[in-house]
Amino acid sequence: MAMRSKVTLKCPKCRKDMEVEQWSAINGDKNPQQKLKLLQGTLFQSACKNCGNSVTVGYPLIYHDTKQNYMIWLVYDDEEVSHVTDYFKKSKSYQTDPNNEDDENVDPACRQRIVRSPDALREKIMIFDSGLDDKIMEIMKLAYAQQAQRNLKSDNIAAAFFTNKDGEKLIELYTKKGKAFVSAVSRDVYRQLEDKYGSKASYAEDRVYLIDDVWAYELLRTMR
Ligand SMILES: [Zn+2]
Repeated sequence: MAMRSKVTLKCPKCRKDMEVEQWSAINGDKNPQQKLKLLQGTLFQSACKNCGNSVTVGYPLIYHDTKQNYMIWLVYDDEEVSHVTDYFKKSKSYQTDPNNEDDENVDPACRQRIVRSPDALREKIMIFDSGLDDKIMEIMKLAYAQQAQRNLKSDNIAAAFFTNKDGEKLIELYTKKGKAFVSAVSRDVYRQLEDKYGSKASYAEDRVYLIDDVWAYELLRTMR
């Protein structure tokens, strides 16, 4: 389900029209080039043919991996989040309806997620493609961030990001000034967190599609 369209924008620098390619859906198996661009963070960039200016335009898109069976919807605002949430809920209820003959049926085992930025989409793809559970990873990122925070006197950890660099699984921690810490993902810690939080975390699987730092924080808060 690869769908692309051409959109004409005005270059913010030279004010000439520029044509930009946009994808409404990318299938990780069938569009490896677009997947690579997504992972490199260049999918949303286009160069103006007139002045060479690079323009970044974010737009909603669906990323689908049929082999690993997951679907991630990139949207930007609350209204879009609630639309996609309704769609996902509806697709789940279709599955349990024996009279449903809708082709739009989503496999019940398909992991459905919503992300709110291109970076969050990149990260989510890397987590799933590394064979990891994003719920456990969000909890792990929070734990690593809290630990790192103890070593920081005046600065705050502002963001944590999972990456897989040539098979090396890492958690990068950022302060407002930039990258502050990089830690390898410990298999042992991951398993411990899975034992401790796995059943509680998967409980909400059918209802929660935004699995991020806020989700992890709330889960830990309710378990305290
Ligand atoms: Zn231009």
